Amino acid sequence: MSDKNWPSWLPLRTDLLELSPYGAPQIEAPVRLNTNENPYNLSDELQAALRDEISRVVKELNRYPDRDARKLRQALADSISGSSGIRFESDSIWVANGSNEIIQSILLAFEGAALGFEPSYSMHPLISRVVGKTWISIPRGENFQIEAAQIKEAIDAQDVKIIFITTPNNPTGTSTSLEVIEEIAKGVAPRSGLVLVDEAYAEFSNQSSALSLLKSNQNIMVSRTMSKAFAFAGARLGYLIAHPQVISALQLVRLPYHLSALTQSAAIAAISKQNQLSKDVNRLRESREEVAREIEALGLRCFPSDANFLLFSGFDVASETLWQRLLDRGVLIRDIGIPGHLRVTIGTRAENRAFLDALREVVRG
Ligand SMILES: *Cc1c(COP(=O)(O)O)cnc(C)c1O
Repeated sequence: MSDKNWPSWLPLRTDLLELSPYGAPQIEAPVRLNTNENPYNLSDELQAALRDEISRVVKELNRYPDRDARKLRQALADSISGSSGIRFESDSIWVANGSNEIIQSILLAFEGAALGFEPSYSMHPLISRVVGKTWISIPRGENFQIEAAQIKEAIDAQDVKIIFITTPNNPTGTSTSLEVIEEIAKGVAPRSGLVLVDEAYAEFSNQSSALSLLKSNQNIMVSRTMSKAFAFAGARLGYLIAHPQVISALQLVRLPYHLSALTQSAAIAAISKQNQLSKDVNRLRESREEVAREIEALGLRCFPSDANFLLFSGFDVASETLWQRLLDRGVLIRDIGIPGHLRVTIGTRAENRAFLDALREVVRG
């Protein structure tokens, strides 16, 4: 994996030697459609509200923030209860610097091996390895679907305690039904297994959220992020909805004052104005269908997606070659390491046009 030669004076853990740091290339390009961000920035009104909030907090930066982020968790509990129609209290919510930190805390707090269905989000195996866990990779089936029966053997052979299900899945856009999620959760419950449903893209999806399974399955956890639909990637805020005992366990491994006062107050301000965001999310969902049709019109295959990106294949050069040719035309997309496939994030109308024009040029030659 890594071609780096570490010097011998560095007492690096041997299980880290072959790893490479997470790396979507941060390349300056006129059109960047490679990290699934929302292309629209925050409204002027929300930016003004954030400035007010931050000026208030700045006066108290000599003090540590609320370790338990109580106000923010309450704001999220109210907002999630409102949007899902299911009442969650703040003791069912945990918050951290991005959902990646949530994932890390879960992997630090609970024992046993971790398992995921790949291709999926590359940070799940990477964080698992970094915290010293065994990672078990189960290949997805046809059209990147998953089935509960696929994991039976692995679960019996290894001490698997944490199962990752990303839905909609990154990088494929595929959703997993609630029936499959619940079947897996019920299957691992007798052996104290936990299921983490990573819903980073839930806001872009028409499928139902696994939040509706939480009250009847205490071993299901749902992680969400403000980095994607919420257009708040730069602020770093991820959250978990789970049984209060899970939240208490995560507090054992969190660093003291992990979430800055600036982040906490910015997130509270953003949540209070979130109804403005649905317009942008709807526009992105419409664009997703338009871009998918145009990719297929070029004779390529585009996989159905419930997220804000599309996976496509069917071109007759290597994925690295196509990726580079698009970059040469100013369009940066993502080579996710599946041979013959590339992933493109849905951007503004102008960005999507630039991508499709560049793609037409390189595919039609
Ligand atoms: C982008 C993404 C995340 C979010 O990461 P943050 O740390 O919240 O920015 C989590 N899971 C998946 C599957 C993602 O694609």
